Amino acid sequence: MLRRALLAASASTRMRELITATPVTRDVVSRFVAGDTAEQALDVIERLLGDGLLATIDYLGEDTTDREQAVAVADEYVRLLGGLGASRLAAGGRAEVSVKPTAVGLGLAEHGEKTAAENIARICSAARAAGTTVTVDMEDHTRVDQTLRIVRDLRPDHPDLGVVIQSSLRRSVADCAALTQPGSRVRLCKGAYDAPHAVAYPARHDVDRSYARALRVLMDGPGYPMVATHDPRLLRIAAGQAELGARTPDSYEYQMLYGVRPAEQRRLAAAGARLRVYLPYGQDWYRYLVRRLAERPANLAFFARSLVSSR
Ligand SMILES: Cc1cc2nc3c(=O)[nH]c(=O)nc-3n(C[C@H](O)[C@H](O)[C@H](O)COP(=O)(O)OP(=O)(O)OC[C@H]3O[C@@H](n4cnc5c(N)ncnc54)[C@H](O)[C@@H]3O)c2cc1C
Repeated sequence: MLRRALLAASASTRMRELITATPVTRDVVSRFVAGDTAEQALDVIERLLGDGLLATIDYLGEDTTDREQAVAVADEYVRLLGGLGASRLAAGGRAEVSVKPTAVGLGLAEHGEKTAAENIARICSAARAAGTTVTVDMEDHTRVDQTLRIVRDLRPDHPDLGVVIQSSLRRSVADCAALTQPGSRVRLCKGAYDAPHAVAYPARHDVDRSYARALRVLMDGPGYPMVATHDPRLLRIAAGQAELGARTPDSYEYQMLYGVRPAEQRRLAAAGARLRVYLPYGQDWYRYLVRRLAERPANLAFFARSLVSSR
C-alpha cells in the first residue's frame, strides 16, 4: 500500500514542489545522487573506481515531452562520455552510462520511438569513441515493447548495447530467453514501477521467484548477465548459479545503486567479483528519490528522521 502511494506521489506535481522545496531533502538526496553536475559525478566515479568498483552513470530525467529537451539530454551524455574518455575513466568499460528512453524522447507525442532511437544511437557512438558501453534502462510496463525494439534495431551496429529486464513483469523469463545471444548484456532487476496484476506479479515472493528463473536463463546462456539487486538471498542464488554454470568472475557482474549497501558492494569487489555502481547525477532527482523511498521503509524512516532533526 505504502509503496503504491509513494509511486503515485512520484508523478504528483504538488508533492514534487513540497519535497524539493524542503532544504533538508538535500541531505537525503546526496546519499543517492552524485551531485548536480557531470564534474561532481566524475569526482565520485574516480573514487568508486579507485575502490575497485565499476560504475554506470545516469543523467537524471525522464518523461521528456519536448524534442529539444530530448536532444539536450543526449548532448549531455555525449559531453559526459567525452569527459570519461579524456580522463580514461571509461577505459575497458570501467565506467559506462545508463539511459532512460523517455529522457531522450520515447514519450514524445510524435515520432517518439524514432527520436529516442536516434538519440540513443548518438550516445552509443560517443560511448564507443570513449571505449565504453551504454545500457538502456527499463521504465514502466507500457514502454517495454518499444524499448526492446529500439535495442534490437540498434544492436547490429552496437552489439554491446545493454538492456534491462524487470522480474516483476510476467513476461520477463520469455524476454530473457529472447535476449540470450553471445555477448548480449542484460541487466536483471526486480522493477521499480507499479503495474497492473494482468502484467505484473503482485506478491514480492513471486517477483523473487521470477528473478531466480530469469537469472537462470541468463546464466545458462551465452550472454553477459548483470545481476542488479541488493537482496542477499538473490545474491546467494546468483553466486550458486554462476558456480553451477562454471562462469568465470569476468563473465557476469553484480550491480547495486549508489548509496545502497555500500559495504556489501566493497565486500563483493574485494572477493573478486565485478561490482558496478549505478550512479545518478543531475537536478531532476525527485522521481528517482521517491522510487528509492518506496523500495524500503528504512529509507523513508531515514528521510523522516532528517526532517524531524532539522526542526
Ligand atoms: C544497477 C541497478 C539498475 C536498476 N535499473 C532499473 C531499471 O532500469 N528499471 C527498473 O524498473 N528498476 C531498476 N532498478 C531498481 C530495481 O528494480 C529495484 O527497484 C531495486 O534494486 C530494489 O530491489 P532489490 O532487488 O534491491 O530488492 P528489494 O526487494 O528492494 O530488497 C530486498 C532486500 O535487499 C536488502 N536491501 C535492500 N536495500 C537495502 C539497504 N538500503 N540496506 C540494506 N539492505 C538492503 C534487504 O535485505 C531487502 O530485504 C535498478 C537497480 C539497480 C541495482
